[in-house]
Amino acid sequence: MKNIIEKAKSLDQADPLASFRSKFHFPEKNGVPCIYLCGNSLGLQPVTTRQAVNDELNHWQEHGVEGHITGNRPWVSYHEYSKNALAKIVGAKQSEVVAMNNLTTNLHLAMASFYRPKGKRTKILIEKGAFPSDYYAVHSSILQNGGNPTQDLIQLETQENESWISTEKIIETIERLGDELAMVMLPGVQYYTGQFFEIKEITKAAHATGANCGFDLAHAVGNVPLNLHDDKVDFAVWCTYKYLNSGPGAVGGLFIHERQASNKDIPRLSGWWGHNPDVRFKMNNDIDPIPSVDGWQLSNVNVLSHAAHLASLDLFEEAGMKNLREKSLKLTGFLEELIVQSEILAGHIEILTPSDPNARGAQLSLFLTNHGKSIFDRLISKNVIMDWREPNVIRVAPVPMYNSFSDVSNFVELLEVAIRDEEQ
Ligand SMILES: *Cc1c(COP(=O)(O)O)cnc(C)c1O
Repeated sequence: MKNIIEKAKSLDQADPLASFRSKFHFPEKNGVPCIYLCGNSLGLQPVTTRQAVNDELNHWQEHGVEGHITGNRPWVSYHEYSKNALAKIVGAKQSEVVAMNNLTTNLHLAMASFYRPKGKRTKILIEKGAFPSDYYAVHSSILQNGGNPTQDLIQLETQENESWISTEKIIETIERLGDELAMVMLPGVQYYTGQFFEIKEITKAAHATGANCGFDLAHAVGNVPLNLHDDKVDFAVWCTYKYLNSGPGAVGGLFIHERQASNKDIPRLSGWWGHNPDVRFKMNNDIDPIPSVDGWQLSNVNVLSHAAHLASLDLFEEAGMKNLREKSLKLTGFLEELIVQSEILAGHIEILTPSDPNARGAQLSLFLTNHGKSIFDRLISKNVIMDWREPNVIRVAPVPMYNSFSDVSNFVELLEVAIRDEEQ
């Protein structure tokens, strides 16, 4: 283990993003900072967030309603301030991205526009084992449209003896469903297995059958490289409290491709904030949706949540997605290498996440063959924070923004100790 600790130290010294670690608050137990590997569930708080939220509280305190139009960030335009950074993170134009609501709400709004069953084209394709909220959302949307989920909700199975789904199999299924397929809705990165789906290929196949194609980027945004515009994705939704570090329950995000977003005739669920801002305050009933993703906004901006989002996005601007991904490949590769090479861990752990670095993000999902929960509890008592998923899986995500190579080596060492203690 000594060699490994030395190696981790030298990787940390050579890490050009190492200084970002000090820009985050790490939770402590008895004054000792934890090993935090749970940024896939809730990202850490940037040190600058508190001031950013305070600034808006002060602005409100000092200006009341006039805060909407005064100061360097008038609230009336608040949804515009995140566009530049978000567009880069998801590979889109600024007119295609907006931060609003929460993920599941945005998924419903997107489906109201892009799940339009007609004739025999009624089916939605998702992956088996989808995140429950996504399953509930598509299930209820089918019911809402008068359909029958037993027939219309198709779930892709994983490969035999594998935890992931090959792109060939996805495309084959899309082609088989053909003109019965109304919409494909898959994850960017699957929350349980950590598989990074091939967005471009899947979208192309969906479009070839005449179906719309959307992605849930909850675990992909701020984690893996995305090119939503060039890949011609119809819509995408995300939350910002995982890799985007914007705080619990923070504002979500929506992408709608410009070829769709510029079409004012697309049916949608509307609210006043999605309407032509020049006439918004005339308070009449002339419906004139903004010809961009902003036309899907319902309500005026939740400024306090959005302020925290902006503070975090500044760090993404500073670090750059390309640099983050570069480090992420090394960091997760290092974790995989230490697990695979450990003699103590052999036979105790299977990695569910694809071993191809291009087919995953930061997360590795570790299947524990025995005593999973009790090993997990031992790690928790050693000040490691990660997450547990039934039946026997620990998800660990070394996040390139704030985790170090030493976090990874310390974690693997503690995992070895936990397994050894469990055996005795
Ligand atoms: C985290 C996550 C959600 C959470 O949905 P909210 O609406 O933000 O509560 C939904 N879907 C997936 C796949 C997730 O990983």
